[in-house]
Amino acid sequence: MLNQVTSGELLATTPTDLNYLCLHGHFYQPPRVEPFSHVLPLEPGATPFTNYNEKITAECYQPNAEAGNFEYISFDFGPTLAAWLEQTHPDVHRTIVEAEHKHFQHYGVSNAMAQVYNHTILPLATTNDKRTQVAWGLQDYRHRFGHDAHGMWLAETAVDLETLDILAQQGVTYTILAPWQATTSIDPTEPYLVSLPEGRSITVFFYNAPLSGGVSFDWNTTNDANVFAASYLPYHLLQSKAEASTPQLVLIATDGELYGHHKPWRDKFLAHLVRHGAPSYGFEVCSLEHYMQMFPATKKVELRTPSAWSCGHGVHRWSAGCECTEGDSSWKSTLRTALTRLSAKGDLIFEQYTSKTLANPWQARDEYIALRNGWESQESFWDRHSHEHIQPTNQQQIYTTELLLEAQFYLQYSFTSCGFFFEDLDRIEPRNNIAFARKAISLIWQALDIDLQQDFLKDLRLTRSWRNQKTGAEMYRELPIVAKGLLPPL
Ligand SMILES: [Zn+2]
Repeated sequence: MLNQVTSGELLATTPTDLNYLCLHGHFYQPPRVEPFSHVLPLEPGATPFTNYNEKITAECYQPNAEAGNFEYISFDFGPTLAAWLEQTHPDVHRTIVEAEHKHFQHYGVSNAMAQVYNHTILPLATTNDKRTQVAWGLQDYRHRFGHDAHGMWLAETAVDLETLDILAQQGVTYTILAPWQATTSIDPTEPYLVSLPEGRSITVFFYNAPLSGGVSFDWNTTNDANVFAASYLPYHLLQSKAEASTPQLVLIATDGELYGHHKPWRDKFLAHLVRHGAPSYGFEVCSLEHYMQMFPATKKVELRTPSAWSCGHGVHRWSAGCECTEGDSSWKSTLRTALTRLSAKGDLIFEQYTSKTLANPWQARDEYIALRNGWESQESFWDRHSHEHIQPTNQQQIYTTELLLEAQFYLQYSFTSCGFFFEDLDRIEPRNNIAFARKAISLIWQALDIDLQQDFLKDLRLTRSWRNQKTGAEMYRELPIVAKGLLPPL
């Protein structure tokens, strides 16, 4: 979710044959499926569609897929959204994957980036959770596209050095950040290197903030693809580089949904821009990996950490709150505390119990997504991860371990960034995070009869909506009723 920015101090210049344009779309929807019934609730605001996923598919994912836009742009496709699309609109999902394959066949590199699995603000996550989020995102990508990812989109471009180092350790070579995430002023027409421990490094592309903001928020900017290519793009090239015949990249990074959903018909703007508008005015449309291959980063940069693209307040928007949302945002820190304390207890229980069954519980969790999503058989998962003394006959221990792994899966869901992004607690997004936490409580209760609900409710009483004074505990009690025995008694 990109906030509006306005500036523009670069000189207008004449395009040369060394000018490149990359449009990155961050395609993502938070998970809205009720975790007990697995039903996507009716959303009246999405009328005439039954829910927003359907509405946005009709307005954005499908028309962009049918127009072939995914072959030209750079994109990341959030795992929770992609999984829903794969199941509900397999034709749209297939068209997007095939577009990536065409790009790969043409250039030998991909134009799709992986995404942090649950759109978690990684600087606020534990080291273990950072590893798992990155690992799951990469496994999801491998499942979907059939090869390894080299780029990864960080939720809200939220970054710290540990996060970048975990990306690098897991084979990621590049990501995208906002220009204000650098400590010094940077030239956004070229990528930079960030130094990491033990000689590792990662390439960072800084997007063009005025153009990305214009495409996101200013209707006039995207009225006409030819005007955009002829008038807006050249203005963001550096005269000195043009004169020296140095390559330049204009990177525009936005939420993908603006192309047709937030802004009707912008899927058509995009289609014309990448095929005709940009090439006609001297810009070659390219992916980031292709650009890196031609012109690797040479300059180093230091980053402001933690930081994100939404605003200049570090990652406060998702922790203590910041002035960018109206009202009293103290509910954010109390909600986060409740979820963090629950998660810490869940982690301890997970580690203590599964140390008996799994050779390395955290490594098993990093690879659990393949088992739970059906990409790996139960037999193969246990072959790789069990202690040798666990025999297939010991079904109870296997069952309990898998319940605890599933609880970990839902604890990861409970940190979905959207729950902390908006202004108030009493909204669907925080409610969903609480619902995911309740599912984790249920799984731990079913596995070991351990009640984490009482303490969680105590913590949730301390988080409160400034609009209607409702507490998180009241919201918890309003969640759909579940079958007897699935939760500890209230
Ligand atoms: Zn802010």
